[in-house]
Amino acid sequence: MSLEKNFYKNIYDNFPEGIIVCDSDGKIIDVNKNFELLTGFSKNELLGKNFSDFIKSEKDSCSQCTQKLENHGLQNIKTHSIGEMRNKEDKLTCIRINFSITRDNKVIYIIIPLSDVAFLNQAHVDFVSTVSHELRTPLTSIKGFADTLLQSGSQLSAEQQNRFLNIIKSQVDRLTRLVENLLTVSKLESKRDKSIFKAIELPNFFKNILYNVQQKAQDHKIEVKIMPNLPPVWADSDKFEQIMTNLVDNAIKYSNGGTTVKIEARFIAGNTDFIELNVVDQGVGIPEEHISKIFSKFSRIDNALTRQVQGTGLGLYITKSLVESMEGKISLKSDGSGSTFTVILPVATYEKQIKQKFQEK
Ligand code: ADP
Repeated sequence: MSLEKNFYKNIYDNFPEGIIVCDSDGKIIDVNKNFELLTGFSKNELLGKNFSDFIKSEKDSCSQCTQKLENHGLQNIKTHSIGEMRNKEDKLTCIRINFSITRDNKVIYIIIPLSDVAFLNQAHVDFVSTVSHELRTPLTSIKGFADTLLQSGSQLSAEQQNRFLNIIKSQVDRLTRLVENLLTVSKLESKRDKSIFKAIELPNFFKNILYNVQQKAQDHKIEVKIMPNLPPVWADSDKFEQIMTNLVDNAIKYSNGGTTVKIEARFIAGNTDFIELNVVDQGVGIPEEHISKIFSKFSRIDNALTRQVQGTGLGLYITKSLVESMEGKISLKSDGSGSTFTVILPVATYEKQIKQKFQEK
């Protein structure tokens, strides 16, 4: 097969939606792998059958395509339509059908199950509703305390006024954090974000992390343990700093004062190409059933400490996205005696560093 043909075949085979190609009589002459997966029928069971044996489209009015599509049992439809698809177990699925007609009168259909589209819409609706709620809560509090200060500030003691101003300040900080997190999420999701890799020496890097969290860590003991002679990590320094600060920040937030937070760096078992960074706490832990959703947007687990400390539920989603944007991995182990978050990133090999030096020139 020529290189070009191979290229297009690869796209066709791996296309994430179902594709059916029919001749001008509506007879199926090809399907891609995803269509086989969607219906449960094998290609051989589908070839030669009529399109309308498997797919029924709602009738819609369009003058252009009527003639060519009559044979497909799809009178009067547009270049996209809603319909139903029958699978091997005779179950019907709602689908969106997009199609185009080739010059030699073949019809190419792209089949998208509507549950996928509905899922995306629902995720969007949920996101907007959660953000609105997260914005409204601090705004209501700011407005309430500001109104009280304006209307009856003179009757309040200096101490009360100070307390109300501190509440306003802390709610403004909460809003600022939320907006900053949302901007980071939007940047990461829009793929505008780029990583600038460099070799990061861990001893100095961890000094910065400790500096970032020192205010919050006053009641905790923080231990840093770096394996002797560990090479530098290959990462984007801003992203790496945000990842480790978020994890250490959470370890402090979700464990009681007087406990220890350990930061460990070492090679992953049996492999000197990757470095494992562990943040280990002795905190409240995360129940097994919540572990899979902890990295989703706005996911906060209800426990005594979550109710006490402020948070947006975006931190771990951002952390995971940042790790993955550098092709790293993040995982979590947790039980009643605490949690261990593990981030795996590559070693900054000489080859990587030299290659980058050449690219910079
Ligand atoms: P936030 O801290 O802003 O709520 P995150 O996305 O950072 O959001 O964390 C999501 C939730 O995961 C937290 O609300 C908390 O319930 C739980 N969590 C995160 N880190 C830990 C930890 N080290 N120990 C126990 N629970 C944690």
